[in-house]
Amino acid sequence: MISIEQDLLPLLKKHFGYDSFKPNQLSIIEDALGKKDVLAIMPTGGGKSLCYQLTALALEGTAIVISPLIALMKDQVDVLKANGIAAEYYNSSQSQETQQEILKKLEKGELKLFYVAPESLGFFNGILENLNISLFAVDEAHCISSWGHDFRTAYTQLGGLKRRFPNIPVMALTATADKTTQDDIVDQLRIPHAERHLASFNRPNLYLDVKPAQDRIKHILDFLDDRPFESGIIYCLSRKSTESIAEKLKNAGFKAKAYHAGMSSDERSSVQEEFITDKVPIIAATIAFGMGIDKSNVRWVIHYNLPKNIEGYYQEIGRGGRDGLPAHALLFYSFADVAQLRRFITQSENADVEYAKLERMQQFAEALSCRRIALLNYFGEQVTEGCGNCDICNSPPAYFDATLLAQKVCSG
Ligand code: ADP
Ligand code: MG
Repeated sequence: MISIEQDLLPLLKKHFGYDSFKPNQLSIIEDALGKKDVLAIMPTGGGKSLCYQLTALALEGTAIVISPLIALMKDQVDVLKANGIAAEYYNSSQSQETQQEILKKLEKGELKLFYVAPESLGFFNGILENLNISLFAVDEAHCISSWGHDFRTAYTQLGGLKRRFPNIPVMALTATADKTTQDDIVDQLRIPHAERHLASFNRPNLYLDVKPAQDRIKHILDFLDDRPFESGIIYCLSRKSTESIAEKLKNAGFKAKAYHAGMSSDERSSVQEEFITDKVPIIAATIAFGMGIDKSNVRWVIHYNLPKNIEGYYQEIGRGGRDGLPAHALLFYSFADVAQLRRFITQSENADVEYAKLERMQQFAEALSCRRIALLNYFGEQVTEGCGNCDICNSPPAYFDATLLAQKVCSG
């Protein structure tokens, strides 16, 4: 019997240096230790990796971790090794020699954690059967669902794991999965009875605000006049508009720069650096900006254009107010954006799903009731009480509102 006080907390302290768990970590770990399958939905930075790492340390045998990005695997394994944990990863970029060495360790049962990309998993058919496996952890589990926002074909093979190893618990983890995607993950992985742990998606310090897109630039300049020294991000759909917006803000006396994937990687990292160190507090960017940027004092996030789905919107506004202090999320809504996004989707392989997601985004922007309720319900959280920290709660729509009416007519 594994005890929290005598086993888990000491392991947490010894290997990771922490005294307590983050929300949901302990209950997720306890379920996995009890041989239950688990679906864990936790926000970015919520501490998902530790859930399977600590489970692996507490159990006999080797945990197999399926993770989509070589860079992520390498980072995690480096940190684990530095903390004295026997971990390795395996992928096609390694030399044959290294691969052989790692295979030997794996087969001798010397590893507590073994990381592998879904694309390489096929290679281990016949090898896995001979191992003492403690756990299968599927990180970024939304990649298995075509309803998710990052579908990867190789993930679909993972359904076979439960068939081949019915008694080994599966822990699926992701930060973004709406209710439909959650159900699909559980289906695809064949873990219908998985315990679902949904961390709250609520970020109560973010003020949610939606405005019609007329006179956006003027509106932004007024908005910035009220908060001249604050740091923020303006997300735009096109590279060209990031540049033209940055230019307009500079002309109005603000320190602003553009960021998009068309810039050289040197330019991009220098802009990112200037933003993080507050030298340039305002960035007009495409959604390429923000991944892995850890800046706690972003006070506002503006969407100059409508995001293509709620997952993206949520992720982008989530870069605001990480320090827990109030931050403002302002979304400009126009039907022209909807039309343009629809044109993009026409070219996509996954068009039906993307249309449906865009429609939900549009409904969010047009809603006449609490924004936060809509957002949280989208992620499967049951909330009914208005938040008091969004434009709608702040000033409920009047009987007749010409702007809203115009939007309705246009989008009908
Ligand atoms: P996620 O994958 O959910 O985005 P990570 O697993 O990368 O999050 O963890 C985010 C950060 O939280 C890491 O720096 C990790 O070390 C830290 N962390 C994890 N668990 C704890 C804990 N119990 N106490 C304090 N920090 C933690
Ligand atoms: Mg993670």
